[in-house]
Amino acid sequence: RKRDDVDIAALQASVAALTPSESYTTFSSLPLSEPTREGLKAAHFSTLTDIQAKALPLALQGRDILGAAKTGSGKTLAFLVPVLENLYRAQCIGSDAGLGAMIISPTRELAIQIFEVLRTIGRKGHLFAAGLVIGGKSLKEERDALARMNIVVCTPGRILQHLSQTAAFNVENLQMLVLDEADRILDMGFSRDLDAIIEYLPPDRQTLLFSATQTKKVGDLARLSLRDPEYISVHEAA
Ligand code: ADP
Ligand code: MG
Repeated sequence: RKRDDVDIAALQASVAALTPSESYTTFSSLPLSEPTREGLKAAHFSTLTDIQAKALPLALQGRDILGAAKTGSGKTLAFLVPVLENLYRAQCIGSDAGLGAMIISPTRELAIQIFEVLRTIGRKGHLFAAGLVIGGKSLKEERDALARMNIVVCTPGRILQHLSQTAAFNVENLQMLVLDEADRILDMGFSRDLDAIIEYLPPDRQTLLFSATQTKKVGDLARLSLRDPEYISVHEAA
């Protein structure tokens, strides 16, 4: 425990000293916890993609981000690494820590993919509890599992159902909200669900929003939920 506290304090200092304007090129050049380093290494991730290089230093420092980069550019790790790291440094991981991060995906299939990546990089020693809330199980089963989760990967309709129907669903300690494929979430008609979800969440959280395109609608969404966001856009080389 004492050893952990020392490690976390050192990590906090290194994260505070990051200079987001610098071009970091590898995961190993970033101040990450040992379990995350090991998880990334085991999955053979070493060089950062462009969106990861731009988003990670800011996201690790707690900034809100509105990121746009085409499909296949590596957006998943651009938000999962900060989710793991920021919860770890805030000591919001563990059985009694409560729900620290909510990751919203437009479809069940994409949510499952995100969850698999989280398992892959998290398996080397992080003790977080993560789960999927995408329907397909009874509300009661999901509700019991939710009570133990530190990180939930979910679809908008289903998580809203829990927020509005489960009195004991406690989101007071939520540190991070991630919207993946935000443009698709809006295209699929989830904007009202999203507004309703945001009403339930603590306002002093970090929000990371990623999409394949930077549409005006996504800008509208940002107005609802982001604090002084950093706009990051990665274009294809001409
Ligand atoms: P997006 O969400 O932007 O469409 P993904 O996060 O799904 O992209 O990543 C696309 C592919 O690139 C995946 O197969 C993923 O494993 C791989 N990938 C992501 N980041 C890296 C990296 N830093 N190094 C090597 N491969 C990566
Ligand atoms: Mg993606």
